Amino acid sequence: MSHTVEILSVGTELLLGNIANTDAQMLSQGLSELGLNVFYHTVVGDNPARVTEAVNIAKKRADIIITTGGLGPTCDDLTKNVLAKAFGKKLVFDQESADRCKAFFDRIGRTMTDNNLQQAMLPEGCTILTNDWGTAPGCAFYADGVHVIMLPGPPSECRPMFYHRAVPYLQQLSEGVIFSHTLKLFGIGESTMEAQLRAQMNAMTNPTLAPYAKEGECELRVTAKAATVEEAQVLLKPTVDQLFQLFGDKIYGMDVSSQEEVVEQLLREKGLTIGCAESCTGGLIAKRLTDVPGASQVFQGGIVSYTNEVKHKVLGVPQELLDQYGAVSAPVARAMAEGARKALGCDIALASTGVAGPDPDDRGNEVGTMFVALATPDGTYVRALHLGNRPVRARLRTQTAHHAFDLARRWLTGLPCDDQP
Ligand code: ATP
Repeated sequence: MSHTVEILSVGTELLLGNIANTDAQMLSQGLSELGLNVFYHTVVGDNPARVTEAVNIAKKRADIIITTGGLGPTCDDLTKNVLAKAFGKKLVFDQESADRCKAFFDRIGRTMTDNNLQQAMLPEGCTILTNDWGTAPGCAFYADGVHVIMLPGPPSECRPMFYHRAVPYLQQLSEGVIFSHTLKLFGIGESTMEAQLRAQMNAMTNPTLAPYAKEGECELRVTAKAATVEEAQVLLKPTVDQLFQLFGDKIYGMDVSSQEEVVEQLLREKGLTIGCAESCTGGLIAKRLTDVPGASQVFQGGIVSYTNEVKHKVLGVPQELLDQYGAVSAPVARAMAEGARKALGCDIALASTGVAGPDPDDRGNEVGTMFVALATPDGTYVRALHLGNRPVRARLRTQTAHHAFDLARRWLTGLPCDDQP
């Protein structure tokens, strides 16, 4: 049976525009991975009458309703009260939930106030979705031909509650398992990728193939449905192999979270260290390297060398290069990477220099003119970039850092580093 889902987000803050409905976005992505069709997103304020009305509408057009928010003590458990009532259920006290809530407060060293016990009132006969990331438990029940799942609002709770609690519940509703692989690509646009796959994607039913664009990178998710994980993997393999053949080294990893994670994994395997010198990226490369757990094993440090003076004094970039070519140039990028490698005592070093805008630099370099360099024991590689078609500082920095990591990954995997992707 194919299910239809409605996401019902409860929160006046959402309606006022104070926060964006990132829970619904996250849930929609996760549900589509499960092969479930989300037909409606509804947002309603913290008002019992209007939440009741929204539930009554959702009941008619969806067979799975997933709510977010309004579970905590501050809202008088609005969502649970309304949903329980709409489906003719009583709320009953659950001692275990009360104990877990108390234990959570003990762990964070705070005293639990009585209103928190409200959170232990749950719809009779429901499946309790224990919350290890906060205090309000979620719950799930089936009534009137509809599955109802309630999740807490804070994204730091909603996401793990969905993946660790709701997904197993939802998987029981479908026969068999749903299993997917995600390929991450850099150096190819989403439209080019999609054009190469469109005909095939439309014809595929199991596995299915879904492309996503993400801040200058692309993802391809291949999902199969089968009786067991092993069978799903067998179904996925030919498609995955074919994608590797089609996109080759544009694929930087499968089931990995980022280019920097891949770079660090490769560095660890080879027993090498990395450092960086950054101008236009202003520390973003170092930040992304340190976002990866275990970074200290491979990351030596970074220098944000914004002015010419720091480039010269700290990194040893020759003054003549700065005078002759300017800071935004291939020779300076090269000298920055080599200087960082020496100053930081690392095996390889990345460098970035460029014009992040909004104005061109004093040598007439357009916004989006960027250079990334990689210094290694066998030489230094420089990539020139022209990213200026949509000059937004944050986007330019992100793209430049992507290219720096791409250079490092290519060198670490023995691929040519001189090509433009
Ligand atoms: P709590 O246990 O913290 O009271 P709750 O389940 O009652 O959680 P709300 O009180 O509705 O959730 O929201 C708590 C916070 O979670 C909000 O202030 C907001 O920052 C965030 N939040 C709520 N709903 C969403 C949403 N749909 N998308 C993103 N963030 C949300």
